[in-house]
Amino acid sequence: MTLRVLALDHVGVLGGAELSLLDIASAFGDEMSVRLFVDGPFRDALANRGVDVQVLPMGALASVRKESRTPSLAALAAAWRLAEVVANEAASADVLYANSQKAFVVAALAGRRARRPVVWHLRDLLGAPHFSALNTRGAVMLANWLATRVIANSHATADAFVRAGGRRALVRVVHNGVDPAPFDAVSGVAPRALRHSLSPDAAYVMAVFGRLHEWKGQQVAIDALAQLPAECALWVVGAPLFGELAFETALREQAARLGLTARVRFLGFRNDIAPLMRAADVIVHTSTWPEPFGRVIVEGMLACRPVVAASAGGVGEIVTHEETGVLVAPGDAAALAQAVTALRASPARAARLAEAGAAHARRTFGVPAMVDGVRRVLDEVLA
Ligand code: UDP
Repeated sequence: MTLRVLALDHVGVLGGAELSLLDIASAFGDEMSVRLFVDGPFRDALANRGVDVQVLPMGALASVRKESRTPSLAALAAAWRLAEVVANEAASADVLYANSQKAFVVAALAGRRARRPVVWHLRDLLGAPHFSALNTRGAVMLANWLATRVIANSHATADAFVRAGGRRALVRVVHNGVDPAPFDAVSGVAPRALRHSLSPDAAYVMAVFGRLHEWKGQQVAIDALAQLPAECALWVVGAPLFGELAFETALREQAARLGLTARVRFLGFRNDIAPLMRAADVIVHTSTWPEPFGRVIVEGMLACRPVVAASAGGVGEIVTHEETGVLVAPGDAAALAQAVTALRASPARAARLAEAGAAHARRTFGVPAMVDGVRRVLDEVLA
């Protein structure tokens, strides 16, 4: 059956949710149009893949953040106006598909006006400290009332939705998928030039990937580096995508305080994730709050690198401890340093874990499985 899906996302930068939607929208082709509420590199990335994409500016709705307690009247009015615009577009769509929480609020209002079903692809672990309680309660109430289905990117995300009061019957779990092609392209090569250009003197490189945010735990990776010998370096890959500039400053100060300035490279946002991962010795994931999914973990596996990940949330659905990677307690820098030291001491074990991780990621977290999962839910909604 040919679908007409109107997808909404309020974000213009390339976070994990947006990179997943990029693959989904590319696979749906003419069946999916995407409307963003802010302009940015995400629009260019979608357009480059031939996706029909437009920006519908969100006005004062931009002032509402995950941690906001009460939205202003201006923000509510902006959401309402945006919903009217979306409802007009929805007249020629079969279903509204929201890829972010703010987009879901607009989709829910628009879906009601246009009498179209609404699917919320939930990619956040509701109840996290960086969401206000009111924000979570509001989204869950709206989902129970107006969503036809909620797609959760892991069982952990699904369980958190239900714990927050969401109806279990609404939820379908579809794990994220990651395209192995960029990793295959660099599989036979050890990118020595890249490594040398970044850390010429390092005998061992630990790398952490993700936007800079306190809960992503880059501070834990820096603390762990302080416990490793001087020939070890750390690459911090990612930017403060949503304005967390003070956090980036704090990370740089932490590195300086610990005498690590020369050993920590802050690389900012990068588009060459696969070669960077190949050029590092170990990929660490350091979230201090349960990660809903963690694309970077699958990517580390696809790059055939040993992965040490913080054991909480959806991470346990990706990594099996001592089989496909190593799990450590979230926020425990000493445990992270120990796990990295042990991998460094035993290259054979590191290679075994990396190979098992790569095979598992390929088998379990492909883009076709993710796209089929989303399509199944949309078909179910329209049946
Ligand atoms: N990423 C990137 N460039 C960077 C840092 C991260 O492209 O400099 C990508 C990373 O490869 C991954 C995504 O951003 O695909 C982050 O997804 P994840 O699920 O790990 O976290 P989220 O952003 O969804 O919280």
